[in-house]
Amino acid sequence: MSSLTESLKKYFGYDSFRPGQEKIVQDAIAHKDLLVIMPTGGGKSLCFQLPALLKQGITIVISPLISLMQDQVMALQDNGIGATYLNSTLNYEQTKIRQRDILAGKIKLLYLAPERLVSDTFQPFLVTLAQKIGIAAFAIDEAHCISEWGHDFRQEYRQMRYLRQQFPQVPITALTATATVRVQRDIIQQLNLRNPQIHRFSFNRQNLYYEVQEKERRAYNQLLHIIRSHQGSGIVYCISRKSTEEIAQRLVKDGVSALPYHAGLSDKVRSHYQTSFIRDDVRIMVATVAFGMGINKPDVRLVVHYDLPRNIESYYQESGRAGRDGEKANCILLYSRGDKQKIHYFIRQKTNPQEQKIAYAQLAKVIEYADTNYCRRIPQLSYFGEKFKGDCGNCDNCLNPKPIEDWTIEAQKFLSCVYRTNQRFGIKHIIDVLRGSRDKKIYEYGHHLLSTYGIGKDHTTDEWKNLATSLVYQNLVRQTNDGFNILKINDQSKKILKGEKKVYIAVKGKTVKKVTRDNNS
Ligand code: ADP
Ligand code: ZN
Repeated sequence: MSSLTESLKKYFGYDSFRPGQEKIVQDAIAHKDLLVIMPTGGGKSLCFQLPALLKQGITIVISPLISLMQDQVMALQDNGIGATYLNSTLNYEQTKIRQRDILAGKIKLLYLAPERLVSDTFQPFLVTLAQKIGIAAFAIDEAHCISEWGHDFRQEYRQMRYLRQQFPQVPITALTATATVRVQRDIIQQLNLRNPQIHRFSFNRQNLYYEVQEKERRAYNQLLHIIRSHQGSGIVYCISRKSTEEIAQRLVKDGVSALPYHAGLSDKVRSHYQTSFIRDDVRIMVATVAFGMGINKPDVRLVVHYDLPRNIESYYQESGRAGRDGEKANCILLYSRGDKQKIHYFIRQKTNPQEQKIAYAQLAKVIEYADTNYCRRIPQLSYFGEKFKGDCGNCDNCLNPKPIEDWTIEAQKFLSCVYRTNQRFGIKHIIDVLRGSRDKKIYEYGHHLLSTYGIGKDHTTDEWKNLATSLVYQNLVRQTNDGFNILKINDQSKKILKGEKKVYIAVKGKTVKKVTRDNNS
């Protein structure tokens, strides 16, 4: 047994490391800067907790959620480990006592909310701490909160840049469960990480079944049907507080035990409802996105999105609350064009053009996910920069493959249009050129003069979009991963253009087949 494994056993009672953990712990002990990207439930906490116990000095952990912080500290204390937190729930007296314990060297792990860390009154304490005890490392949990491209941007996270300036010799470990290449770059830049060791793990959650259903006009009945044909606890995500209340009420009337959950309820009511759900006193939680972060219920069997999520990361996180125990669970998204319009409307209300641009780009990815005729895991995982081959065998499209057609000619038109516009545009623009759009942008670039202008009127925008995403998924054209999704010709595209390769794509059948997996059968 290695000495690290012995320590693991001694402090945490585990027999072995989860994949990746040991190398991370080694790097942390070697005082390296680290970026750890691991899906929820992967075991991130241990990656800074164990090194904290093995290093000189105190490790400072930044965590955005007070409830999570308290849980973790309690769990550590139960294992006899010197851990504590400072946050707004403590009064002056309690804070003083804790600070005294910390300066007496009794504490190895100190949890802080980011606003505490950056507050002017706290910084002198940190300096004293560094001098008297020594700071072993900063561990920044939920590090994606630092990026506007993440799904949970927080202003205070930005100010943590000062850690590196003020304490240049202290290594930083940043951890997150969601990192697109974009967010990853942001984290490294914002925290000013030095040659960080990047440890990233696959985000594929094999036990989750993904399905998209076209939202029916009587969407509530559709939802009721879904809930009735599944067993176990479930979460239904809605966009508005009002609809969580309405739907929960109707479910109760229809004999399904359900409660609403949203940020408009008092803390007391929320925590009461939450406990009811965790204890299985109530089966279905109808919630806004306020529900979830920090709630650890391992046996959620069903997550339904009644409304379209804002972006793929949110969808991944929210649906990912199903099946934490590794057992099979179902994630169903209800999708209608109307919902898309609604979100467009919300985005138009945004006043910051940068935010608006990001929101549109992210919505486009959600629509792509909902519209795809291919394995759902391809767009999902590609969002996290993972290439997935498809055929997961556990999504609606893989279980009910759509018919395949030869679209070689159309692909040639499409690709030559990419080529003629100098490989500087995304899918939407190419389709606009092909369909002869009169958009101002087309004229500005002079693209109405191209030979490919208007040669694609025989297909709808949706059909072209389907072709375009199919080409991307099959690697027949490259799409940049920098948030702009620009199309670039690759070797495969060249073969298609030269007529050396045929293109087959999945198309929607005549009838939209509804797939509902019945857990009762
Ligand atoms: P994350 O922060 O990545 O969501 P956690 O750190 O909360 O994940 O860990 C998820 C669960 O896995 C926890 O219950 C934790 O106790 C457990 N765990 C972590 N590492 C190990 C290990 N090496 N052996 C067994 N269980 C582990
Ligand atoms: Zn699949």
